[in-house]
Amino acid sequence: MATIFTKIINREIPATIVYENDKVLAFKDINPAAPIHILVVPKKEIPTINDIKPEDKELIGEMYLAIGEIARELGIDKEGYRVITNCNEYGGQEVFHLHFHLLGGKRLGALLTD
Ligand code: AMP
Repeated sequence: MATIFTKIINREIPATIVYENDKVLAFKDINPAAPIHILVVPKKEIPTINDIKPEDKELIGEMYLAIGEIARELGIDKEGYRVITNCNEYGGQEVFHLHFHLLGGKRLGALLTD
């Protein structure tokens, strides 16, 4: 089912887009949890990690390549950053269109588990 991220991909609602190619879009999170908080999404509608199919292997690689490129572009590649994907209820997923949170711009605390 289409989510708000599909609307962003289709330019039906605005977002601050920082990266785009034919398969991947990245934009600023509207409610940033760190000085840099980018969402990297596939243009293909994949609801959760559980829905990734063998034929999506290359696409997932493209997403990581995009993350590396964005991190270099934003100048956070050397200091470092964190990439997170939430899955379903216990993972705290709110938008059911696969996405990677790219978090950086400061020394991040311990990984949240509660
Ligand atoms: P998750 O909880 O992993 O599903 O993350 C969803 C993320 O999408 C949250 O960090 C929200 O702040 C973010 N978000 C929701 N709506 C928008 C929007 N219109 N533009 C940018 N980010 C959004």
